[in-house]
Amino acid sequence: MNPDFLIIGGGIIGLATAFRLANEGAQVTVVERNIIGAESSWAGGGILSPLMPWQYSPAVTDLCDLSVARYPDWIASVQASSGLDAEYWDCGMLVLPPYELEIAQNWCQQHQWQSELVAARDILPDMAEADALWLPGVAQVRNPRLIKSLRGAVLDRGVKLIERTTIMPMLADQHSIKHVNTTNGRLLAGGYITCAGAWTQELLTNQPPAKTIKPMRGQMLLFKTQPHVLEHVIYQQGIYLIPRLDGHILVGSTVEDVGFDKSTTPETRHDLMSAAFKLLPALSKATLVQHWSGLRPGSPDNVPTIARHPEIENLYANAGHFRYGVTMAPISADLIAEMILGLSPSMDITPYQWN
Ligand SMILES: Cc1cc2nc3c(=O)[nH]c(=O)nc-3n(C[C@H](O)[C@H](O)[C@H](O)COP(=O)(O)OP(=O)(O)OC[C@H]3O[C@@H](n4cnc5c(N)ncnc54)[C@H](O)[C@@H]3O)c2cc1C
Repeated sequence: MNPDFLIIGGGIIGLATAFRLANEGAQVTVVERNIIGAESSWAGGGILSPLMPWQYSPAVTDLCDLSVARYPDWIASVQASSGLDAEYWDCGMLVLPPYELEIAQNWCQQHQWQSELVAARDILPDMAEADALWLPGVAQVRNPRLIKSLRGAVLDRGVKLIERTTIMPMLADQHSIKHVNTTNGRLLAGGYITCAGAWTQELLTNQPPAKTIKPMRGQMLLFKTQPHVLEHVIYQQGIYLIPRLDGHILVGSTVEDVGFDKSTTPETRHDLMSAAFKLLPALSKATLVQHWSGLRPGSPDNVPTIARHPEIENLYANAGHFRYGVTMAPISADLIAEMILGLSPSMDITPYQWN
């Protein structure tokens, strides 16, 4: 039997969408070119917040705020279905100067975000003397574990996963898509939902584009230390350190416009290491375990497309989440499912329309 919905792309957005639709009783198939969750969703840091939220438009921060509010219940439901811990951790984030102190404090006040000015040294004894902004409400999740947990959860809900299969660019027959061609034959469904991350535009070659979505490379380092060396995310001028519960520490990240090139560079490794050692001198004694890059689905102003195609009635996009797709996953899945199923939307969806 053909599924009700075919989801193209098995990253966090595709999996979260599949989970929500399957929870509503829909028959769902996810088709992934590679293996589930091995692209941007694996490569990311898992901070559940925009890095300096006061620098973004409400289209980004409203989406993130509602998603973050839903995260604890969403994670609990994913973990209960899969039996796998995603390591959700409300570890807080410390923003170190220079940053726009007054703008930041006003923004936090207006958005009911808890914030506090602290001496950085009270939190991290190794830090230089400076006032830092402590944001205790910022949480994180461990991406690779979240992917595994989501994979288990959708399988538990009866979602079919097809890996190592590429969907070819989609051709619409007037106002609907009848089928898609893949590297393993033809697939049919009632509705088609593009969750193809940085590759979204390639799939839609003969369609009016969604908001321009293009790959934006991010390089990341992973160190191994003892647990408790760092217990909060710290951020300073584009560089962040993310501790994991077992003592791993991530250092990121670059934002590079280099097309679909996923290589890493020695210059960036050097730059990230220098910045990280300055922030946390203890890290210079730790082992560098890995250096990788991922391709974020870059969109103008970080605003994703969560929408039905303007002319093709059974084509949808949930894509272009750029720097904050892990944060935005639960609400994006809810919004696209509400749209498809005719339910009232959780929030105003105007900013996320197809161009
Ligand atoms: C270095 C880095 C740090 C980050 N840090 C954070 C962070 O701290 N917090 C946060 O919220 N976000 C972060 N992000 C961003 C976040 O990871 C992304 O926004 C999110 O993963 C996007 O998810 P996705 O499912 O849309 O894309 P992807 O995970 O890239 O998934 C898309 C999938 O579609 C598949 N696909 C593409 N084309 C086809 C096709 N034709 N047929 C079949 N399958 C196809 C791909 O193989 C891929 O698996 C970071 C990203 C990077 C790279």
